[in-house]
Amino acid sequence: MQIGGIQKLTLIDFPGKIACTVFLAGCNFYCPWCHSRELVMPKEIKKLPKVSEKDFLDFLEERRGLLEGVAICGGEPTLNKELPSFCQKIKTLGFSVKLDTNGSNPVMLNELISNGLVDYVAMDVKLPFERYVEVCNTEDKAFDVQQSINILKTGKADYEFRTTVVPGVHFRDDILKIARWISPAKKYYLQNFRPEKTIDPEFEKFTPYPMEFLTEVQQAIAPFFEVCQVRSL
Ligand code: SF4
Repeated sequence: MQIGGIQKLTLIDFPGKIACTVFLAGCNFYCPWCHSRELVMPKEIKKLPKVSEKDFLDFLEERRGLLEGVAICGGEPTLNKELPSFCQKIKTLGFSVKLDTNGSNPVMLNELISNGLVDYVAMDVKLPFERYVEVCNTEDKAFDVQQSINILKTGKADYEFRTTVVPGVHFRDDILKIARWISPAKKYYLQNFRPEKTIDPEFEKFTPYPMEFLTEVQQAIAPFFEVCQVRSL
């Protein structure tokens, strides 16, 4: 497991908690609009400063009583077989754990939730089911994502689904398809794309959708969810 960076304080990454964020390097998807090139591209990962698990846990030890939670992001954290023990160590120190995932590892997601090792899961739903091959090169992954959706919807851990809406990639009908696929569900957020530091530099030339467009789509799908909002990134 390679820790690719730490954000020492966040008030937005973990809903309702004062938290820090730890970024784990490596990803099994390739979303051209991704902002985390340094955590996804193997050549970039090699350049990351080395932060050991011990360094991070020592940092957490010093923050006991000051921070409430740890958001674990990537890349894709569930690629690391050490993730359950890492979460356990964080929880033993008294922190809540939030996991960001692309939903590609339902087996580990189930293990984490069943063993009470995560308190909140934010899962990206990148595309409608039939288009997943565009970000992961294999049609099978859509079935893994489907399983992760089902696991989260059991409600054993608090969760949200979210989609970054990218012009030229997502059209109104794609969001409606995703909403129909994942609903009914607790929370679904539409996030507006930012054309900055993308893996494929062409995406930096894209103009984000106007908020009016996202709001109109959000209003169309809101009845399928307990909470459905547009979120600025
Ligand atoms: S957006 Fe997420 S899943 Fe896609 S390449 Fe970036 S880190 Fe991986």
